[in-house]
This record gives sequence, C-alpha cells and structure tokens, in this order.
Amino acid sequence: MKIVSFFILTFISFTSMAQSINYKFSINNTNNHYAEVTVFIKNIKDNEILLKMPVWTPGSYMIREFERNVIKAEAKANDKALDVSKVDKNTWKIDNKAKNESIEFKYWVYCFELGIRTTYIDNDRAFILPTSSVMFVEKYGNIKGEIEFIYPPNWAQISTTLEKKAANIYVFSNYDDLADSPIEIGNHKVLKFDVMGVPHEVAMVGRNNCDETVFVKDLKKVCETAYNVFSVHPCKSYLFIVHHVDEGGGGLEHANSNVVQVNRFAYSNLQKYKAFLGLCAHEYFHLWNVKRIRPMALGPFNYNQENYTNLLWVAEGITSYYDELLLLRAGFWTKEEYINAMQTNINNTVNRIGGSFQSMHESSFDAWIKEYRPNENSSNAAISYYLKGGVIALLLDIELIAATDGKKSLDDLLKYLYQDFYITKKRGFTDAEFYQAINIVAGKTIDFQYWTNMPNDANTLEKMKAILIKAGITFENKPIKLVNYTGINIENKAEKTFVKSINLDVLAMLNGFNAGDEIIAIDDIRIKNNFDEVIKLLQTEKEYNVIISRAGLIKTLKLKCTNSEKASVNITIPEQNNLANKWLKVD
Ligand SMILES: [Zn+2]
Repeated sequence: MKIVSFFILTFISFTSMAQSINYKFSINNTNNHYAEVTVFIKNIKDNEILLKMPVWTPGSYMIREFERNVIKAEAKANDKALDVSKVDKNTWKIDNKAKNESIEFKYWVYCFELGIRTTYIDNDRAFILPTSSVMFVEKYGNIKGEIEFIYPPNWAQISTTLEKKAANIYVFSNYDDLADSPIEIGNHKVLKFDVMGVPHEVAMVGRNNCDETVFVKDLKKVCETAYNVFSVHPCKSYLFIVHHVDEGGGGLEHANSNVVQVNRFAYSNLQKYKAFLGLCAHEYFHLWNVKRIRPMALGPFNYNQENYTNLLWVAEGITSYYDELLLLRAGFWTKEEYINAMQTNINNTVNRIGGSFQSMHESSFDAWIKEYRPNENSSNAAISYYLKGGVIALLLDIELIAATDGKKSLDDLLKYLYQDFYITKKRGFTDAEFYQAINIVAGKTIDFQYWTNMPNDANTLEKMKAILIKAGITFENKPIKLVNYTGINIENKAEKTFVKSINLDVLAMLNGFNAGDEIIAIDDIRIKNNFDEVIKLLQTEKEYNVIISRAGLIKTLKLKCTNSEKASVNITIPEQNNLANKWLKVD
C-alpha cells in the first residue's frame, strides 16, 4: 500500500513539474481600454481545457460578472487555430483532442470601470485587479507561473507585491496569489517606510494635496499600532495603492496590499484626513483579520459563485471596531472622539428598523443579495455587519476583559485565532470553532450567540448595558423626541423633493407614499427644498393633503405627522476603573 501511494506521488509530481501556465497582459491601445491577455499553456494534454473568469472579487461580496467584459477569445497550437466555445457564462473551452503540448489562448477584455474592485485602463495609467480581468485554467489554479505586462513606454512605474523576476515580468505562486495581487502601472509617486523591518510602499495615484512627510509619519504610526495587536507581521513587503479621486471612497484588502480611494483634497481637511487614516487602518488590519484569520468559506475561494459564511461580522465588524480603536491608540482620536463614535454606533444599531429582522449571521450570509445590493427598503429589512458587527466586537472585547480580570481582551482572541488556525492548522475556522475560541481565551463559557444569532429586540439596549457595566462603563439612554415625525426620508434634486425611502413604522407607508414620489405641495405650500421647514408648521396628528407626482401623474395623498422618539445613549467611563482602562489601553 505504501509503495503504491509513493509511486502515485512521484508520478504526479513528475508530470506537474512539466506543466506551466504563464500570462502576457498587453495594453496596446489605451484609447480603447482593452487589454489583450494571452495565456500560455504547456503540457496540459487534457482533451479539453477550461478557462474561467472569476465572477466576483474576494473581499467584495457580490457577483459582478467580470466575464461580461470579454470579447473575442481564440486559441492556437503550432500556428493552427483550435476550436474555442463557451460552456457557461464565464467558462471558455479549448478543444484539445489533438493533445497539443503548447497552446496559446488569447482574449480581449474591456477595462474601464474605475474602482477598487475592477481593472481600469486610460491614457495615464492602468490599475489591474486580476480577479476582474485574468482568467484561470480550471483544475490547474495551483501552478506557479509568470505574468508579463506590456504597457506604454512613457509609463515609468509599476507597483505590485508580486515577486519581480525581470523587467515587467513577475512571478506568482498560484492563481490565488496572482488574483490577490493588484498592479498599478503609470507615473505615480511612490512613498516608502518600514514597519518592524517590513518594507512598505504607498503608490500615490492621481493629483492630490498630500503633505507626504506628515502622511508617511502618520500612516507608519497607524501600521505600527495595528502590528502591536498581533506582534507578528506575516508579509515580506506591503503596498498601499491610493487612488485619489473626485468622488468616491472605500477600500479593498489583499494579503500583502490594499487599494483605497480617497478625495484628492482630503489631506487639508482634518476630519476627512482622520477618516482616511481610519480607512487605511481598516484595510491594513485585514492583512491579519480575514486574509489570514478567516472563516472557513473565505479562502481558498471559489471564484465561480457566492462563498457563503455566517461570520462576515467577524471579518468586517471586528475590523471596523479596530479601525476606530487604532485611531485612539495611535493618538489621532481623543478619548472623547472615540466615545462619541461608540455612542453613534450603538444608536445607529438600535435605531435601525431592519435590525429587528436580521441577525448578524443572516446579515453575513445574505451580504451577496442585501448588503451589497441595497434598495429603498434596506433600512427596514437589513442591518450592516460592519455597523452592528463593530458594536458587538466592543461587547466581546469587554466580555473578555471582564472574564479575565483584565488579563485578556479581543486582541488575545485574534492572536489565538492567528496562531491556532492560520499558523498551526493552516486553515479557516468553522462557526463552532470561533465560538469555542472565545471560551478558550475567556477561560470560561461566554454565551455570546445572542448577539450573532438574534435580531435586535426590546431588550437589546439593556443587554448591552449589562455587559459594559462589567468593566465599569455605564450608559444612559436619553431618547431624542421626534416632533412631527413623518417617517419619510427625502432627497432633493435641483429644486425638487423626492421620497427616498419610508420607514416601516409609520402611517406614511399606510397612506400610500412610494419611494420615488415627487412631493409637490403639502397643505397648499409648494415644496422645493423646504420639506423639513413645512413639516414643522403642521399640527401633530392632523391630516393634511399632499400633492405628489408619480410616473407623470398627479395624485393627492393624506399625511398625518406623529410624535416619536429614538434612542440616544451617553457613555460614561470612570477615570480610575482598571478594566475600562485595559479596554482603551490607557494606563
Ligand atoms: Zn473591511
């Protein structure tokens, strides 16, 4: 038996050594935004070879159908064309009954979606995210290979964490490695610093008003503060790709890099600048939490379909909690600013109507169809695993601190998960293993699943209070009175006022208002950009006529305002409480 298996292993390793898949990514004409991608396949003598374009980008949980940008795919061997046909929406099949040893597959892919999750080519630069433009060969994604980039000669700079082999030629250890390594090419400036001996680069793409000396100092501080949570840095090098834009924001994490979008003038506005440092902290923290400490479903990835997990709140909620905590620990936020942010997070969590219908597990699992595909009813139906996930990360931190008399905290849970799963078991964790890890770090059983399995209920605030008091943290709920509450959320376009959404808890919905209705007049007063002022003039509980326009037809609806209230908590932390100070890392 042993002899047989030895023979098979030897045979497999001999044949796999000869197989290779290499790429050439050519940007020949920046005006048409097409890349010509050639896949060089050697010694894969299967009767048919399947190539697939991922339908999504890990870290962004939505099917994006990148294959829709592909035109004209063809293959040849020994200068003879091979039949290429489509098998399904994102799979191309090469007919290789002739058992050719060397095949070239070539396709053209349109790259003009500006963003952090997509490949983009214009006259000045290219941002290549391989999941959105580079196909993989099915069954052979684990083969090491090379990718060559061809681009205009006046582009001087190429930034990526792929291993460089020669000018414009980079090596990847497998398709996952390539897929997870964005590439920026152009004439961007590169800033450099190091964190505990690990070289870091920042590709500064697009014009901006950055004071580079200050930014490098601040970003280094953010990174070092994140490092201090784990005391281990798993990267050989790390890259920030910063896209400076007119409008937009957000970021996407990778194992050894991240891509962030920020307003090009954010550096001169202190509030926006701190928010940007928070975004950098968030994406950087992901190099540990989610790229290495991860739920089972989040790697290795299935690029063909949704990858479901109940634990996106761990990946994103805990990371959101830390992006704020790191700003405090690094000295960019005062204690007051941090407490204010916590209060806002708690208020938004308990005031969200959809929080009564969706648990954190459900929010995580349905990210593909809800969080990433919001509509006018989302606030009534769903709650973000970023928002509530961050709040319950706070509760978990306090539970761990209280259970261990300040000896352990959420930092230690993350360190445990990193060591036990990423380093030792070399895999992600199941739901049960995650909850078990909480108990191991706490040294006792903490029943935390109410916060993740259950939607909000009437007792949610009281239950939060009961946990925070364990570390001496108190809060008082002083509800804000909402006089003449309509539950109608509006948006103004030019001089017009439209219904954006309607809260599920109000008469407005019963009275037949729809999202998209243009509100023309209330009680004979013409509505332009004055909706709030007019509502204040009305008598509570009295019925008024409202003229609206819907699909080009005028209608008269009834509106009654009522009085309501929403939660508003005030957190207090006693100066001398040892456990509270452990939480904020204040000595
Ligand atoms: Zn994130």
